[in-house]
Amino acid sequence: MARTGGSNSSRFSRFTAKDKDGEMIGNIIQLEKVRMAYKNGVLKQSYLITGPWDIGKKDFAMAFSAMMFCETNDNCGTCKGCKKTGNLSNPDFYILNEDGQIKIDSIRELNKNINLKPYEFERKVALIIGAEKMTTEAANSLLKILEEPPEDSIIILTSAVPGQLLETIKSRCQDIKLKNVPKKVIIDELTKNHGLENDEALRIATIALGRPKLAESLAVNDDYGEEVEFLREITKKNLCERFKLAADFAEKKNILRLIGYWETFFMDLLKAKINGHDDLLTTKYKVKDFSWGVRSIVNILDILEKMREYIQSKIKNKLILENIFLNI
Ligand SMILES: [Zn+2]
Repeated sequence: MARTGGSNSSRFSRFTAKDKDGEMIGNIIQLEKVRMAYKNGVLKQSYLITGPWDIGKKDFAMAFSAMMFCETNDNCGTCKGCKKTGNLSNPDFYILNEDGQIKIDSIRELNKNINLKPYEFERKVALIIGAEKMTTEAANSLLKILEEPPEDSIIILTSAVPGQLLETIKSRCQDIKLKNVPKKVIIDELTKNHGLENDEALRIATIALGRPKLAESLAVNDDYGEEVEFLREITKKNLCERFKLAADFAEKKNILRLIGYWETFFMDLLKAKINGHDDLLTTKYKVKDFSWGVRSIVNILDILEKMREYIQSKIKNKLILENIFLNI
């Protein structure tokens, strides 16, 4: 009874699962905290998983959900609960993973589902990916559910922009903040499991800035170069063209990922300039291929940081991009 849009991976990220030696890596500590709460009977009924874009919030939420159905509560990966949750065939697990807005009808359906008695397991789990995509109506409807959640149910929300959620929703959820994963862990993952050479793994890990999902995505489809290329192009555009590009990007691109890429690039450029290097770590271009001076780069980094904060306060993406494009 899983409802889903977009792609789903049934595999839990290696970064949030135990490695072969059972050592804690990355956000496994956060997952262990949930496990302890579960085993001690002090689990809450609603959770909000937050953290940067591409950190792996959905994988974490899937691991959390599977734990609720796992025979050993240990994410064994082989029992009926783990398997059925992972391949989305668990009748007691409901996932909302919409591509666009999350509308009130979806929340009503979720409500109907978690109010049914558990069918195969002992509880119901509902997961909402990207909860900030809820319309106001949908958010108010969810708030009512969170105020009086059905017995034996757990509701898990994920969001990279919790600033856009209703305060009343946030205050009803236990917050789990995912943290950036050490660079070395990401490099190991890229060399061992994606077959990348050390240099390339280092480059991608530098761009990923501790976000394993981004590293995995770059290993398959490296769109970073394209956005650096764009920075070279935009300096040649006039004001009118820049406004047009802002409107276009706001519609088509993931703004959090874009700002992250540009911050990485300008940090790379700044460090190289300060240290007198000719080469950049994250791109094939040389320092001399860009005309920004140190002061301009620092200004641009300030603007990017401010704009990233503005996204949290629901300011329109188009305005944010205009501000960036006019100051680059
Ligand atoms: Zn299991």
